[in-house]
Amino acid sequence: MTISADAAAIHALLPQTQCTRCGYQGCKPYAEAIANAQAPINRCPPGGAATIDRLARLLDRDVLPLDPECGREGPAVVAIIDESRCIGCARCLPPCPVDAIVGAQRQMHVVLTDLCTGCELCIVPCPVDCITLVPRGSLASASPEPLAAVNLERFDTHEARRHERERERLRVLIERKKRATRASA
Ligand code: SF4
Ligand code: SF4
Ligand code: SF4
Repeated sequence: MTISADAAAIHALLPQTQCTRCGYQGCKPYAEAIANAQAPINRCPPGGAATIDRLARLLDRDVLPLDPECGREGPAVVAIIDESRCIGCARCLPPCPVDAIVGAQRQMHVVLTDLCTGCELCIVPCPVDCITLVPRGSLASASPEPLAAVNLERFDTHEARRHERERERLRVLIERKKRATRASA
């Protein structure tokens, strides 16, 4: 997704968790909406007051309180999987924007907490509700929150792989259709 120079400057200030809490499908679409005056600067809970402040300075706009409709600013959280309940369905893998969950079909899954942004996107897809969020600080060996640059790099890799899988799926579909057409001719 290519974005304007203004949107790129805004995007560079966002935390890159891709959590969608701003109401957009990720940080880039939200940055575009701000640049096009279609969204206010106070819709990013992970960025909180500090991000609003930076955006206000960049865009020479008034500082606003975080919009409570988007969520609250809070301590950093990470996802934890209850291994005793995980059925290894792998449904939590595709939604994780930074590929912080590892595991394969019918195997127990684990969260790499040093990479987890606490975006919550893995919670709903889990059919047995065995993923919970805990404060990062409560972990026995709590690593610092991942940097926005790391989140973005991992998200770009995640998206590139997703697009590649989609291209491959379409290629196989087209090939099957061609074979079926040849067989019925
Ligand atoms: S991190 Fe902020 S800008 Fe990015 S998707 Fe989440 S709420 Fe939106
Ligand atoms: S493990 Fe869950 S909460 Fe953590 S980054 Fe991935 S989807 Fe978000
Ligand atoms: S979605 Fe839930 S049950 Fe399925 S692999 Fe992930 S954590 Fe385990």
